[in-house]
Amino acid sequence: MRTPLIVGNWKMNKTPSEAVAFVRELLQAPLPAPAVEIVIAPPCPALGAVHAALGQDSPISLGAQNLHWEDRGAYTGEVSAPMLTDLGCRYVIVGHSERRALFGESNELVQKKLAAALRHGLRPILCVGESLQEREAGRTLDFITQQTTTCLQGFSEPQLATLTLAYEPVWAIGTGKAATPAQAVEVHQLIRRVLTAGWSSALAAATRILYGGSVTAQNATGFLTLSDIDGALVGGACLQTESFASIAKHAQR
Ligand code: PEP
Repeated sequence: MRTPLIVGNWKMNKTPSEAVAFVRELLQAPLPAPAVEIVIAPPCPALGAVHAALGQDSPISLGAQNLHWEDRGAYTGEVSAPMLTDLGCRYVIVGHSERRALFGESNELVQKKLAAALRHGLRPILCVGESLQEREAGRTLDFITQQTTTCLQGFSEPQLATLTLAYEPVWAIGTGKAATPAQAVEVHQLIRRVLTAGWSSALAAATRILYGGSVTAQNATGFLTLSDIDGALVGGACLQTESFASIAKHAQR
């Protein structure tokens, strides 16, 4: 059985002190862990302080929002997988549509970042999603197939054992216009077919696929009660403890 997973992507929000105050408040909330796995991905400068605030045996795991594909070197401003693991990160988001659109990340680059994460035991959360233009042109399924296949090309099945995918339609991110649960399910089922065709039905059955895009405490149940949807990647609604904890509660099966 796939344990539901709720991931909070803080994006470029909260200073380290704000992050620590937030985590202390979140730890007071009724969280459904371990029935639901909960991950928060604060900005890099807050990772160390948040890790300390979470403490030992925390019901919440730490994730990063991005990483570089090399382990070290002359890459001013970048952060590597060994740095993230040393800071206590267990997960890393790779290929978020904001990174693709604003920082020019291609599928090939995303593939290199996945390799770096896997090399160092970081569990990658690979984001895929179509633009509004692709959806309106009826190209969603072809686009997702291509994006998923290209990003995962060359990885063996054992390497992908810790992979999570997040289906995040670009038009739904931060817009308040979530996909319908039926739209999400159609793509989640497609991704499982892609995993079956490229690797095996065992990998497809074991891999968690999250939905992301304007998930709120109000609409979360519509997604999280469906067996094809293994959790959510949450942006805006993860910045308040109440809404994030409430979304996590809805993921309990
Ligand atoms: C995201 O950034 O991954 C995201 C899903 O954002 P939001 O929930 O705000 O749409």
